[in-house]
Amino acid sequence: MTATFTATVLGSPRIGPNRELKKAVEAYWAGRLDRAGLEAAGAELRRAQWSQLREAGLDSIPVGTFSYYDHVLDTAVMLGALPDRVAGIADPLDRYFAAARGTDTVAPLEMTKWFDTNYHYLVPEITPSTVFALDAAKVLDELAQARTLGVPARPVVLGPVTFLLLSKAVGSDAPLLDRVDELVPLYVELFGQLAAAGAQWVQVDEPALVADRTPEEIAVARRVYDRLSAVPERPAILLASYFGGLGDALPALAATGVEGLAVDLVAGSDALASVPALTRKHVVAGVVDGRNVWRTDLDAALGTLGTLLGSAGTLAVSTSCSLLHVPYTLDAETGFDAALRSWLAFGSEKVHEVVTLATALTRGRDAVEDEFARARAAASARRADARLYDGTVRARLDALTGSKPTRSPAAQRRRAQSALRLPALPTTTIGSYPQTAQIRIARAALRTGEIDETEYRARMRAEIADVIALQEELGLDVLVHGEPERNDMVQYFAEQLDGFCVTDNGWVQSYGSRCVRPPILYGDVRRPDPMTVDWIAYAQSLTDRPVKGMLTGPVTILAWSFVRDDQPLAESANQVALAIQDETVDLQGAGIRIIQVDEPALRELLPLRAVDRPAYLDWAVGAFRLATSGVADSTQIHTHLCYSEFGEVIDAIAELDADVTSIEAARSHMEVLDDLNAVGFDLGVGPGVYDIHSPRVPSVAEIEMSLRKALEAVPAERLWVNPDCGLKTRGRTEVEASLHNLVEAAQLVRADL
Ligand code: GLN
Ligand code: ZN
Repeated sequence: MTATFTATVLGSPRIGPNRELKKAVEAYWAGRLDRAGLEAAGAELRRAQWSQLREAGLDSIPVGTFSYYDHVLDTAVMLGALPDRVAGIADPLDRYFAAARGTDTVAPLEMTKWFDTNYHYLVPEITPSTVFALDAAKVLDELAQARTLGVPARPVVLGPVTFLLLSKAVGSDAPLLDRVDELVPLYVELFGQLAAAGAQWVQVDEPALVADRTPEEIAVARRVYDRLSAVPERPAILLASYFGGLGDALPALAATGVEGLAVDLVAGSDALASVPALTRKHVVAGVVDGRNVWRTDLDAALGTLGTLLGSAGTLAVSTSCSLLHVPYTLDAETGFDAALRSWLAFGSEKVHEVVTLATALTRGRDAVEDEFARARAAASARRADARLYDGTVRARLDALTGSKPTRSPAAQRRRAQSALRLPALPTTTIGSYPQTAQIRIARAALRTGEIDETEYRARMRAEIADVIALQEELGLDVLVHGEPERNDMVQYFAEQLDGFCVTDNGWVQSYGSRCVRPPILYGDVRRPDPMTVDWIAYAQSLTDRPVKGMLTGPVTILAWSFVRDDQPLAESANQVALAIQDETVDLQGAGIRIIQVDEPALRELLPLRAVDRPAYLDWAVGAFRLATSGVADSTQIHTHLCYSEFGEVIDAIAELDADVTSIEAARSHMEVLDDLNAVGFDLGVGPGVYDIHSPRVPSVAEIEMSLRKALEAVPAERLWVNPDCGLKTRGRTEVEASLHNLVEAAQLVRADL
């Protein structure tokens, strides 16, 4: 058998420690960098990363996880599965970016969440006429580069089962997995090429197997890996899963001839000992969390590894998933106090933990006792830190009864809210207005100290005044302040809440060249001061129309942060909910009569396995209700949700019990209204009547038609008129034109009521 290895990671971040790849790719798009420059930037990032991983002590290094945009798109290229509409673009790199981002004439692929992470992949489109064909140039080139540098390279590719399960069938209803037999020969060919290029191992990622799969799907996976492992000329196969346990798929895959299995022992809890076939495998144990930022409990991890020794043929230590989901290194952070810093591990620190554990496994714990002692000391200091326990917050939560917080019956609230004197079909927007150049300049100037806080606030107030004037002029009914002071709807709140810290350089790829810096929730959450009241009250002081206060909900704040691992997420959610509740009460006290609590991430945190969903939805709904049930009946609560696949969460949306729910529907053609009716939803609803993801200005006729269609499903008293999401990524001119048409369409429809 091929030589095994002892220490690895399943993948690495690729955007660059200082977002070098983002900058290079964007410069290439803008025509400021030529292709050779872009390729050189990519090659240098790979070289630097591999050399770090090798120096850190990994003896097998993933290669091929680099990407100019997205690894699922890379796989589509590798398998010849780009859509026909880009086929005419002769240059491969231009074709690739056209599929990713679209061009003037070509629509891009759709983007969606990579499992339950905040990374978005491009969804390959497969039609009955797609003819798969292998183009392994990318992975072969990267392998060649790695081998030239003497890197112990393990090429990584996405497996055929996951590729098909993540793709979208276009022009046919047949399940795409039926076409797996067309892909198997391509993987056989690929493995031959990789072996010829010197690869000892190939990592084949099949994360889709950790979600609920039918027995038939598991049987397909088994058949695929039986066939692939029967190929004589190939590297040893490491079949990798992550983001959960394999469940029933584990014995099936272990029964195939693959040499290795990588399993996620952080998110999953597969009973490896009950699978005898594993004693013939190289088991790559994901004991270091690849998705969160906490320092590993080395004693516990070594304990887990110890129990695996008897169940595995050979054993290697790894991260639970690719390090794509965490920042590069703590070395780039200056803002943490020493204690906080000692509790954390980002990418490079996690690599070090993997190596430490592998050393302990092969040479005994004594060889690395210092590291263990440091981890132990940090863990006990963390447990004892006063910031983790706020007695007041805990007492408030303890005082809550078991059942979900409830407001008065909806009809009673509706009567109390009639004082708002809104017309039928009220018009509004989702919160943000275009982030203008002035806003960005002001933020940058504040950061560099060129202007002070007072000047910054004055400039933001000017933006607010501008947006209020615009909305009055357009004739919107419920106004917003436009969110100019927020660069990010989660970070803005995290910066003001005790229990959260933010990073200087903790960038994580969200999609393509877009990165986010998730805050870290480490302690009990408390709101020392009001967070939004000044801005919203100022906006309200400029107009007689109601201004809607804008808050981010507890689920979304957690979904877009790194969260505590020392208490259930539900508890953290309730703590955030209390802080938001305090804010709603203060907004109400300042004369704000409508408050929107956004929960765009409600769907995103939905567990991958159906058995885990009811418990999640229960606490998620509970936290939202806790956040929104502290106000009087006369205060109207709105929420906003922005994804179009509601199926699984439709009951939960109704249970949120918000007076008004605005929801993305421009692209899903109002189907959402029928779905809501089906669960007896009878509150206010604003199905987005135009798609803000495109610069196109919708015509009056188009919006009018959407509204008339909506009125077939929802009575006029409950229907609101709004775009399908916030406007911050749009330009001012198109926003003005679109909203003008929106108001006019509402007026036309209103006249007929
Ligand atoms: N209020 C936010 C905005 O308008 C909502 C954003 C979102 O749905 N992601 O920008
Ligand atoms: Zn939205």
